Parts: sequence; C-alpha cells; structure tokens
Amino acid sequence: MVDQLFEGNRAFLKNDLAPNRAFYENLAKGQKPEVLWIGCSDSRIIPEQYTNAKAGELFVHRNIGNAVPPLDLNAGTVIEYAINHLKIKEIVVCGHSDCGACKALDADLEHDHLIPLWLTNLMPAKKRVDSTLAPATSDIEKADRLVAIIKENVRLQLEHLRQYPLVQAAEADGRIRLHGLYFDIGSGELTTID
Ligand SMILES: [Zn+2]
Repeated sequence: MVDQLFEGNRAFLKNDLAPNRAFYENLAKGQKPEVLWIGCSDSRIIPEQYTNAKAGELFVHRNIGNAVPPLDLNAGTVIEYAINHLKIKEIVVCGHSDCGACKALDADLEHDHLIPLWLTNLMPAKKRVDSTLAPATSDIEKADRLVAIIKENVRLQLEHLRQYPLVQAAEADGRIRLHGLYFDIGSGELTTID
C-alpha cells in the first residue's frame, strides 16, 4: 500500500504540480485559509474534493464523529490557532451519511477502552433524537433515525464550539460565522443543517 502512495505522489507531481508550478511555489510561502473545517476521520470524506477547494483554502481538523469536546486540547488548540493567528472567517462542522461514530452510539463496545469515552461527546445527540422520535421499526425508519442523529450531532458540536470563550467573542463581534453541514456520500451533496 505504501508503494501505491509513492506511485500516487509521482502521478501528482506530473499531472498536478508540474502544470501548476507557480501556484505551488506561492503556496510554499505560507497559508491564508478562510475556513476552519471540522469533520470526521472517515476515509470516504475528502472535503477538498467535495467542495472543489484548493490546497491552502481549508484549515482542517478531523476526528471520530467530528466532535468538538469543550475541554479537548487538540480541538481547542486548532480553534485557537485558526481564530487568533490564521484569522479564519468561517468555521464549519460537517457530519456525513453512514457515520460509524454515530452508528456506534447504539453498539456494545465492551472490548474498547477509549472509543466509548470519546463517544460520550456525541451521546446527547442520540438521546435527543430518541426522546422526540417514535422507536424505529422499519429499515427506512432506522435509516432516518441515523441521519437525524448525525445532524443532531452537528448541532451539538456547534453548541460545544460556542462554549469556547474565544469562539463566543469572535462570533459576537462578527469576526467569524459558524455553519453546520451534512455531506451525503452516495449523492455527493453538501447541505446546510438548520
Ligand atoms: Zn463519521
């Protein structure tokens, strides 16, 4: 597999870098992204591809379930750097269809140690959905319930994001805007979550 990566890199150098050398030479001097993209680690999610974004346009933080735990050193550092130093203008939290993290909220994870702990950051989303929806019986209802949990999780993580004082301050004085998005892997469509 690693050989494939080097082969892929050679193809990139030939097909992408060589014809766009000036763009990459300029890129090498520094970054000035305007968007912080918080998304899931899922291998099927390639935000730059789905949004047609070029290198240098998205500052990206990814983890299992696109979580923004209020006291997470990793996410917190990314957010602080993005707001205070990169002066990004928008923060996106993007959930996606078939998210394994959201599916795992129903799973028995007795042999795992860290995953259940991490998923506590998402669990209120499942509880909120189950408190408003009738229990799902058909496959369609189960699929709808999963999408509802995935979208509710994005709302939950936006709430977490707004617990960071620097996010609160930046949003209050109009320096940043926050957005919840949903990406459907099968259709390739990106939509806004209200
Ligand atoms: Zn996911």
